[in-house]
Amino acid sequence: MATPAAADAVPGFAELPLREELLDALARLGYEEPTPIQREAIPHVIERRDLLGQAATGTGKTAAFALPILQRMVEQGEQREGSAPMALVLVPTRELAVQVCEAVHRYGRDVGVRVLPVYGGQPIGRQIRSLERGVDVVVATPGRALDHMNRGTLALDELAMTVLDEADEMFDMGFAEDIETIMEEIPEGCQTVLFSATMPPRIERMASGNLTDPVRIQIARETSAAGEAPLVRQSAYVVPRAHKPAAIGRLLDVESPTATIVFCRTREEVDQLSEVLNGRGHRSEALHGGMSQEQRDRTLGRLRAGTIDLVVATDVAARGLDIEHLSHVVNYNVPSAPDSYVHRIGRVGRAGREGVAITLVEPREHRMLKAIRRATDYTITVQKLPTIADIRARRLELTTAALRESLLDDEAEDDREHFRVVVETLADEFDVMEVALAAVKLAHEASGGSVDEEEEIPEVSIKPEQKDKGRKQRDNGKRGQRSEGGEQRGGRESTGGMTRLFIGAGRGAKVRPQDLVGAITGESELRGRDIGHIEIAERFSLVEVPAASADEVISALKNTTIKGRKAPVRRDAKESAK
Ligand code: AMP
Repeated sequence: MATPAAADAVPGFAELPLREELLDALARLGYEEPTPIQREAIPHVIERRDLLGQAATGTGKTAAFALPILQRMVEQGEQREGSAPMALVLVPTRELAVQVCEAVHRYGRDVGVRVLPVYGGQPIGRQIRSLERGVDVVVATPGRALDHMNRGTLALDELAMTVLDEADEMFDMGFAEDIETIMEEIPEGCQTVLFSATMPPRIERMASGNLTDPVRIQIARETSAAGEAPLVRQSAYVVPRAHKPAAIGRLLDVESPTATIVFCRTREEVDQLSEVLNGRGHRSEALHGGMSQEQRDRTLGRLRAGTIDLVVATDVAARGLDIEHLSHVVNYNVPSAPDSYVHRIGRVGRAGREGVAITLVEPREHRMLKAIRRATDYTITVQKLPTIADIRARRLELTTAALRESLLDDEAEDDREHFRVVVETLADEFDVMEVALAAVKLAHEASGGSVDEEEEIPEVSIKPEQKDKGRKQRDNGKRGQRSEGGEQRGGRESTGGMTRLFIGAGRGAKVRPQDLVGAITGESELRGRDIGHIEIAERFSLVEVPAASADEVISALKNTTIKGRKAPVRRDAKESAK
């Protein structure tokens, strides 16, 4: 079934039964090796087995189903007549629909895949026209998929593969019934793959009803992957993707590490980040599998000698490196598996020295961080990024320290004497304090200490589950589930720290709880389970959201439509009066 591997395919991927066009795409994207979920899942999915995978965002699960879909599409080739899709991927949010489409498109560029995102909030007419023209893969939120099925604009009879992505999240958002209805229409013999970050009983039930003898794969194992926690201070920072380069720059400024290794996922990411950091005045070099051994050795030599102070690397390139004096390890993304995290941070804190591990977490990756905490039992503290004021203070501290050192240095005393004439001359004209201030300013600027044009990095609220130590809040599957209409029980047990929002659309406008949850999670950083009590009245709805995210949700909802209409959104009057 598989074609021989491409000549320049990345070794780890070449061992998977993937076609040359797909291997080429992966090499071009700078992927250096499959993530554990990809390595384990892809062979089974290619063999057309049903699969039940426990994996969160950040593990690389999208490629684990997207590559087999593309392979199947190519294999069906000419036999595929008509315009009905051969694969349907159901996802909880519009954001994920778009992301998955982009991924399918990236991997399938060379095989000419036609992929369409289908979600609520977008004019249905445009989606209908695209479906009529013909698509291979539809990535849809369940509500909108059902809508199209009822209109007869989405035919499922040619489906060869169905994927349920982030199944637990879809359940949390009240899509269980919609999913069941869709699954009833899936043709006999269609391969089904289900991914979920957690496996509560309701997901197991749904899997046993819809999957046939599935292969089970669990990536974030709950057993301890590590022995004793190393002597490493471990922090995580929640940062939107666009602000990660600035965030890492700030962290490095504040930490002033002696020698750092920054881990990225791909060669491209390594090259880009290294460039950005050099632009910010750090001395960094790239290290990845695309470089010759000689180049890599030279880079490491410079790190050891202190000519550079950081190396930006992929896992593959950094494997087997022995750098004695590393002080910091930075994960530019959450590693794709707990083992990888353990392995990376094991590079610092050696020989009794304290090391520092920093992990940047995109809001959507917070579950992967949680999985790592659970699997390792390490304490990883979520912290706030240093502010611009913190950076300024830190740089002033450095300038102060440099001046103090110079003042205390007896040998420098003679050197300083050369400058006495400058100070004496200026002292005739100015106050000595003023002279000192001007001199310090010049010294500060010369050492790169002044902060200008720093971009603001928005603070992303940390959800309660991100704060836990990984032990207490296991998903027990007992969360209340929203059903259609009427008053609803929310997903949270308590409403502490929640704010109630008024939304000027209700039952009269056919608004259902899942429409509100879909709009909120699609437009903000919140996930389904962050949303509290939802009440739908005839002409308006009330929704509880975490207080820290209220402003973000209000401004996001103002820019979108609910059930095709703009609706006024504000803090509920009773709430504001409190
Ligand atoms: P996912 O968990 O599917 O959302 O993927 C997380 C991120 O990892 C995405 O940005 C992917 O592009 C990236 N990614 C997936 N697989 C690999 C791989 N084998 N090597 C490097 N990056 C990857």
